[in-house]
Amino acid sequence: MENVHKSKIRPWIAPKVNLKEFRDEWHETLSTFQDDTKQTFQMTDEEYAKLEEECGLSAMYCPNQEYMEISKEFNLFEDVGLETLRLQRNDLEKRQNDDQYEALVSYQSKFYCYPHHEIINREQSDESPGFEEVQEPEILLTVQIFRPEKRQIAHNRNSQTKLPNFTVDQEFMVLGCQYLTELRDKIECISDIAIPGEFSECPEIEPDTTCKDLYKSNFLFIDDVFYNDMRYPDCKDYSKIIIDWANDKNRGIGPFKKTLMEKTKFIDLSIQLGYPYVYVHQGNCEHMIVFSDLQFYTRHYCNNKLLYPMHCSLKNKKRILCMICNLHTAMWVVFDNKRLPENPFYFCKKCYFSFNYVNNKKIGEFSAYHHIDRSKIL
Ligand SMILES: [Zn+2]
Ligand SMILES: [Zn+2]
Repeated sequence: MENVHKSKIRPWIAPKVNLKEFRDEWHETLSTFQDDTKQTFQMTDEEYAKLEEECGLSAMYCPNQEYMEISKEFNLFEDVGLETLRLQRNDLEKRQNDDQYEALVSYQSKFYCYPHHEIINREQSDESPGFEEVQEPEILLTVQIFRPEKRQIAHNRNSQTKLPNFTVDQEFMVLGCQYLTELRDKIECISDIAIPGEFSECPEIEPDTTCKDLYKSNFLFIDDVFYNDMRYPDCKDYSKIIIDWANDKNRGIGPFKKTLMEKTKFIDLSIQLGYPYVYVHQGNCEHMIVFSDLQFYTRHYCNNKLLYPMHCSLKNKKRILCMICNLHTAMWVVFDNKRLPENPFYFCKKCYFSFNYVNNKKIGEFSAYHHIDRSKIL
């Protein structure tokens, strides 16, 4: 894939690192240091707290930063003729006079999108997962899972050129000793919990199957290797058709290899930080995956192996509201109903039944599917 991504001309992509060598070199370096000095390299908690205070992210925080971005009452200097201040003043006035605009600014503010640390705590305070100590030497990787990019529908494709909107959906810390499947099982995607099937004729039936129950195949594509999840008998090899396609030399990519996801640990990989890798499941739900950080594990991180892969940040999920009452979260999505002004149309449960059925009989022709809202997942 190097012919396509050209990582050498992209400064945010780091050179390739063999994770096993990275771990062993650091372990050796630190062991030598300990032998030479006849003391342990471990810092005391006080030393660590001081280092965190002076070099951690909190040291970059400016006290008025949050206030400056989201406050409506920030006073600007009147006697300075800078264009930036004039625009800032106009913007603040607009926020004061337009509640909708003010809500939009707050929503898009980076402070609103700060990582949800309480979710990490919630995860830890759930039913005890047990305890298994992390075996050192070990490495810690930070993995970002991006939201699948929306595809433009066919009739809209030529209307305007749209740049991809890449959004990090979930971020995990994962240990080198873990299998790729352990990360795969932690990734939450709406395509997995979607309910398959059309339910307009039998809306009262409670569905008991999700797409993940039916379609278990998936792969990770890292460093020109497809890691196929083949843990279940009905898993398909998604990679075969792509490998065959890429074998055509005119395409200028490949050759690619494949192996099993359930037999591969993160420590077996060679990765480039910042490089776009891919996770594909449910046929065509494609998530970009990026390793954003790599560190040598120290005891200051959580030492319970069973809590990894651990969420370290999450994006806020926006609800889809019922298009009738505009109040409740949508639970149904309806297609091709001539009585409706939009296609598709989203309903909450109550509005869905009151608009589309009389005495439990369907009105007109349409198809209806259960809608699982994005806000339902982590
Ligand atoms: Zn997905
Ligand atoms: Zn409603």
